[in-house]
Amino acid sequence: MDGDWYPHKGGWLEVICGSMFSGKTEELIRRLRRAQIAKQKVVVFKPRIDDRYDAESIVSHNQLQISSIVIDKSEDILQHAIFAQVVGIDEVQFLDEGIVEIAQKLADSGKRVIIAGLDKDYRGKPFLPMPSLMAMAEYVTKLLAICVRCGAPANYTQRLTRSDKLVEVGASEIYEARCRHCFEPPSKNDE
Ligand SMILES: [Zn+2]
Repeated sequence: MDGDWYPHKGGWLEVICGSMFSGKTEELIRRLRRAQIAKQKVVVFKPRIDDRYDAESIVSHNQLQISSIVIDKSEDILQHAIFAQVVGIDEVQFLDEGIVEIAQKLADSGKRVIIAGLDKDYRGKPFLPMPSLMAMAEYVTKLLAICVRCGAPANYTQRLTRSDKLVEVGASEIYEARCRHCFEPPSKNDE
């Protein structure tokens, strides 16, 4: 993904999506690190809601990390991204819908925008605003985890508690990766 074939002028949008435990943050950090090694100006954001591990950094499950700016709303990105050549955003599914227009604006102004996020919620339904971002992006990378039950490619995030909150931040004790056959969506009564 870091090859010379990218356009040299003009920005573009890259989306990294998939279920939990598919390595989205790891892949985001890998791309951002390559840009830093190339001495590009990189700025990284994450929404405030995700405070696991470390408030000031983006940390993958395997402990890779990169320092980030915590934001409350997508609009906050613009003031911090003015001089950046590369803009990274993690856990974008926790941001407001305004991120779609802002990501477009950043790419239009010549920046490389790399966005990582869950593409489906715990019900297995598209997690807004990911569908719009995927439609706008030049490059979409879909990552898969491995189903903890059967070992098949896992495209779903199974919530292991009966909470009906859309956002339930946490890691391995609340969620696991499941394939389409092992995924059990919450029943109508639970919703
Ligand atoms: Zn399975």
